[in-house]
Amino acid sequence: MAYATINPATGETVKEFETASDQEVRDTVARSAEEYKSWRNVPVAERAAMMHRMAELYRERQDELAALITLEMGKPAQQAAGEVQIAAAIYDYYADNAEEFMKGRTLNPSTGGEARVVLDSTGVLLGIMPWNFPYYQVARFAAPNVMLGNTVILKHAGNVPQSALVQEQLFHEAGFPEDVYINVFASNDQVAEIIIPDPAVQGVSLTGSERAGASVAATAGKNLKKVVLELGGSDPFIVLDDSNVERTVKQAVSGRMSNSGQACTNSKRFIVLEDAYDTFVENFAQAVQGITPGDPTDEKTFVGPVSTVGARDEIMEQVQDAVAKGATVLAGGGKPDKPGAWIEPTLLADVTPEMRAYAEEIFGPVAVVYKVKDVDEAVELANSSPFGLGGSVFGADEAAALEVAQRVDSGMVFVNAVTDTAPDLPFGGVKRSGVGRELGPFGIEEFANKKLIHTP
Ligand code: NDP
Repeated sequence: MAYATINPATGETVKEFETASDQEVRDTVARSAEEYKSWRNVPVAERAAMMHRMAELYRERQDELAALITLEMGKPAQQAAGEVQIAAAIYDYYADNAEEFMKGRTLNPSTGGEARVVLDSTGVLLGIMPWNFPYYQVARFAAPNVMLGNTVILKHAGNVPQSALVQEQLFHEAGFPEDVYINVFASNDQVAEIIIPDPAVQGVSLTGSERAGASVAATAGKNLKKVVLELGGSDPFIVLDDSNVERTVKQAVSGRMSNSGQACTNSKRFIVLEDAYDTFVENFAQAVQGITPGDPTDEKTFVGPVSTVGARDEIMEQVQDAVAKGATVLAGGGKPDKPGAWIEPTLLADVTPEMRAYAEEIFGPVAVVYKVKDVDEAVELANSSPFGLGGSVFGADEAAALEVAQRVDSGMVFVNAVTDTAPDLPFGGVKRSGVGRELGPFGIEEFANKKLIHTP
């Protein structure tokens, strides 16, 4: 079954779902297009009231919603609760700010008269979302677009079908008309052959792998549809000095291991200046070795299983490839011998360009540490990645750290902190990390008609 809940902590198949028929997929697009005709005319204040109710529902049902993603993709309980809260905050943020953003701006035309550019809706949009943040990633796409007056069809990842269905249900409970947000269990072929080519569909937003992004963007391009792509990352974590090892290592552990290492903005490459290297690595290795992956339903668990046994095998292959070609394992390196998608938190050193771990994204609790002789070499290594999503620079001299941050080629860089997200901060990358921005004022512009209204 393409859509199924399989508990990654145990390997048990809990529930399976049928993929939609071609006719159901066609009907979904038709319903969304029909709904758009009226939804675009609903006053923004009314949309905002429903969206605030949506945020409230997330908060009221936090425990149940958190437990569902823990079951389906293994997110540790406390982090699952955190995800529900940030999803609620995103719905509130766009409920509060969309009207203001949509006013756009007044220009001073050289040709005389008055010109205003407003943000208007465009129509039906398709969201294709991954399993690693099943609520947050949907909220980033759905909240601004539904506020704008667009209607949304959501194709979620195959391993989170119940989390997908509950979000559609929440839209209904919040009072949105039935077809403003429709969940569809479509296959990738149906996406390419039925949904994207449909003239009613105006754009696609995908968060996921480069492979999925390239395939969906190719179909969208052929059909002249706009895309927003939020793809992988291999964020650098640059350590300039050892003045605050304890704090830096704490951040390194949280940056690499949160969400059991399965975030596009996890810190993945630890690039350390040689004077700081030995102290940082000794402490980091000790900290990584000290993490035992545990039951994700336990409030105290920091690292759980990864999402699927297939994902676990892929990560293990990346680690084994590196080890076979000469990398050093400073912590972990293996997988616990039990059912489910378990892997030991791992730290690798001596990783070189011929190893997969050098340029590929490692989507699990595996850190790679590099020693560099100076700042120039650190920046060069940071920027040598095909990705450019987030990044961090740590140093006691904040001005010096800021200077380095400005030289990092990525969509987001944080000084003395790991890459983070908030409803009002733009999120997105450059290079192979994707196209476009989500969140903040930018997130509502991507699928808006930036309409010029000119008056004499
Ligand atoms: P995918 O990119 O395959 O999945 C993400 C979403 O895209 C899912 O809904 C998936 O559906 C869908 N999808 C995949 N291929 C197509 C297609 N050709 N047409 C339409 N939709 C498609 O990610 P995986 O789960 O396979 O993870 C693989 C790797 O991707 C990870 O190891 C990681 O490196 C990266 N990744 C990055 C994420 C990020 O946040 N940037 C999130 C998830 C993954 P379905 O599940 O039905 O195939």
